[in-house]
Amino acid sequence: MKSLSTYNTDDRRWNAVVGREQSADECFYYAVMTTGIFCRPSCSSKLPNRENVEYFISSQDAQASGYQPCKKCKPTGTTVNEEVEQKIIKACRIIENSNTVPKLVDLAKELGLSPYYFHRLFKKVVGITPKQFASGHRSRRLSNSLKSRESITEAFYDAGFSSSSGVYNKNQDQLSMKPKEYRAGGVGFTIHYGVAECILGWIIIAATDRGICAIEFGDDPAMLPRQLQDRFPKATVTKAGSGFTSLIEEVVKFIKAPQDNFNLPLDIQGTAFQQQVWNILRQIEPGQTMSYTEVAEKIGNPNAVRAVATACASNKLAVVIPCHRVISKDGKLSGYRWGVERKKLLLDNEKIER
Ligand SMILES: [Zn+2]
Repeated sequence: MKSLSTYNTDDRRWNAVVGREQSADECFYYAVMTTGIFCRPSCSSKLPNRENVEYFISSQDAQASGYQPCKKCKPTGTTVNEEVEQKIIKACRIIENSNTVPKLVDLAKELGLSPYYFHRLFKKVVGITPKQFASGHRSRRLSNSLKSRESITEAFYDAGFSSSSGVYNKNQDQLSMKPKEYRAGGVGFTIHYGVAECILGWIIIAATDRGICAIEFGDDPAMLPRQLQDRFPKATVTKAGSGFTSLIEEVVKFIKAPQDNFNLPLDIQGTAFQQQVWNILRQIEPGQTMSYTEVAEKIGNPNAVRAVATACASNKLAVVIPCHRVISKDGKLSGYRWGVERKKLLLDNEKIER
């Protein structure tokens, strides 16, 4: 959590407390030594004596110093008030309905907030910055548009890109298929797969010519290719020949002993945010776990816990991107895309292997 440069001195912080400035909330917290309570700057409780006040940049820091959160302003809550939330939702709608990316200052003005405050609130509520939201939105719109349109150039302009070359550069990490391939929705795009049995039941392993694009578990081997086709609706999904055998063996071996190196190329397809989350997951060692909250903190986005959970659930590469190593803060296993029972088995297995 960052402190705002606006509140970088004792005087400025104290003035904000005296003025009960709402815009100072989340920038810092003040604690009262005589009561042992800490508050948000805007708290309506009685003003303390200045000499008894100390400041913290996060509620965690205040708690670590032994202060209790105030019952009135609930400084540990991550919820922002409803009015603010409505404003941010409105901002999302404006972004979604604009043909170009709206300027931050214009958006903030429209909502009656200062640009900085708006930016911070947006990130807190949505989990990403307005710019990332706009860019992600354009990417989604682009991929929808590409599927239905004849002219790629037209689709680019529809999605709000000012020149089509921008798409190739900017969207490279978001749409991992090149625009032309994407437009076709996978037509001419061949995915080979193989189905095998592993310690967790049936497994399907699929690859494009760039690398492995999906590893998924299932209970019914006949269903797995159909589910794969659903994920890549217009790609040609074909059963692989015998050349695939060693690749399947390699993956099955890795599922059983994930502490070994996995050196096969991957074709990881996801949004910029998903890739960011998945990169963190790939750093979690076998036998170790991390909470959704910790992952959110690691990507510098401590409020994006739900978005992190969603990114984990969107993972298509089981075990290789070890989303099973992410659990609840309270130690509960929480969910797993391929069933919580498998998650438990994987984690138990890693403990034994260690
Ligand atoms: Zn308070």
